Amino acid sequence: MSDLVIVTGASRGLGLALCRQLLAAQYRVLALSRSETDETKQLKQEYPAFEFVTVDLADLSQLPALCAEWIKRLGRPYALINNAAVGYDGVLATMHNSEISSVLTLNIEAPILLCKYLLRPMLLNQRGRIINISSIIARTGFNGLSVYAASKAALEGFSKSLAREVGKAGITVNCVAPGYMQTEMTSSLQGDKLDSIKRRSPLGRLATPDDAAAAVLFLLSEQASAVTGTTLTVDAGSTA
Ligand code: NAP
Repeated sequence: MSDLVIVTGASRGLGLALCRQLLAAQYRVLALSRSETDETKQLKQEYPAFEFVTVDLADLSQLPALCAEWIKRLGRPYALINNAAVGYDGVLATMHNSEISSVLTLNIEAPILLCKYLLRPMLLNQRGRIINISSIIARTGFNGLSVYAASKAALEGFSKSLAREVGKAGITVNCVAPGYMQTEMTSSLQGDKLDSIKRRSPLGRLATPDDAAAAVLFLLSEQASAVTGTTLTVDAGSTA
């Protein structure tokens, strides 16, 4: 049977692009997010190897039982891709505390817990891959995204230490840090601001969800077996 990859935030944007590339590369995919979309329904029809489960990952208390159920039903996963995230745009001084908590819960607590529960079967297999989706904002900073940036910097720090912890078991842990991509998350950034991001990039364009998904596919591959504890930036050169 082909290797199982679990993808969070799979209903649209980068998560959806990832599912498409994974299925084309013959992986089995368990796709998670709060709502199904026409695109995921279409994938279900096209690929028997694709399963979609609706789940609110911010509801942390249900994660241990859910992970146990997935492992029992689908077998030990080869890889986990923590991609689901939110980013509320707003200055810290006026941000509601509930918004701060919900960013940290979904963007950092949920990935840590998913790693915890899904690493166990990887340790038994003595092979596996964890890929956490960060952002260039973890290192560059961006006005109005301080809490989001904190969550992504935390994810990068977490990934490095976890890579040290599980490397001897043949498991690699890496981050992919995309630059600005046009998805629902960034739909409010349009016009002049968008043009200036494109102009300032050495390649004169933005990275796309497919560009970032291709970096994830590389990290999953056998060719990347010596790559761990690092962050692969896919930003059309914006941070060069
Ligand atoms: P997006 O279009 O907003 O998609 C986010 C995904 O996460 C959706 O599938 C959404 O589905 C899911 N999600 C949100 N809340 C959830 C919850 N509570 N439980 C389960 N799933 C949830 O975002 P994107 O642009 O594709 O971003 C993907 C990743 O790339 C994120 O980690 C983001 O931080 C990172 N990133 C994006 C950019 C960019 O420019 N777009 C740049 C750098 C990094 P539901 O709403 O159906 O739950």
